[in-house]
Amino acid sequence: MRKKIVAGNWKMNKTPTEAIALAEMLKPKMSTDNATVVFCVPYVDLVPVSEVIKGTDILLGAENLHFEDKGAYTGEISAPMLKDIGVKCVVIGHSERREYFAETDETVNKKVLKALEYELTPIMCCGESLSEREDGITIEKIRIQIKKGLKGLSSEQAKQVVIAYEPIWAIGTGKVATTEQAQEVCHAIRVVLGELFGDETAQEMSILYGGSVSAGNAAELFKMEDIDGGLVGGASLKEDFEVIVKA
Ligand code: PEP
Repeated sequence: MRKKIVAGNWKMNKTPTEAIALAEMLKPKMSTDNATVVFCVPYVDLVPVSEVIKGTDILLGAENLHFEDKGAYTGEISAPMLKDIGVKCVVIGHSERREYFAETDETVNKKVLKALEYELTPIMCCGESLSEREDGITIEKIRIQIKKGLKGLSSEQAKQVVIAYEPIWAIGTGKVATTEQAQEVCHAIRVVLGELFGDETAQEMSILYGGSVSAGNAAELFKMEDIDGGLVGGASLKEDFEVIVKA
């Protein structure tokens, strides 16, 4: 059975002091029998949050990494650094990073490969803009992002990757994709994963939906056949996250 995953993406929110308080508040509410919960937090919050969640099943996640092990990359953080402090997952290629930090499918691919080398679970994001959806090229765009982002991976490596489908127009906007829209694209992602790595691998890979997931819509979205959980921004910073995890 595929893993069910709910990952909170805290983005650039919460000082270390605030992060400790948030993690303490959420910690007792995160118990679930059948889902993996991940807190993806800003770099400076990783160590303090790791202390709070120690001894629980909550996994620690980062929001980015560099694709080199070390070197003259001022301001960057590497996979071995994340590994060393107990990070288990890392968000790669979020649309905000693609838009504001010039990330491309090529850098996303290098980051995915680097994360796998250090046994970090990549949560690789893909998603179309509103104009791409209106132009009817959503599926083409997603297929390209998946093919380029996962270039060079073996089926065994692909099984370690989590895909997050996040329509850009739904992120932080309160506009959620309909369950049919989300399912249609998540299914198309599973089809392309099957073409690349074989059906057995595609069936094992978790595909998350992200984009204004809330306490009110999570259960409906997560019921869909090809949606194995969520990548959650705004609502992961609130008590509401409990309802989403339970869903
Ligand atoms: C995200 O940050 O990946 C996201 C989906 O944000 P939100 O849930 O706030 O739309």
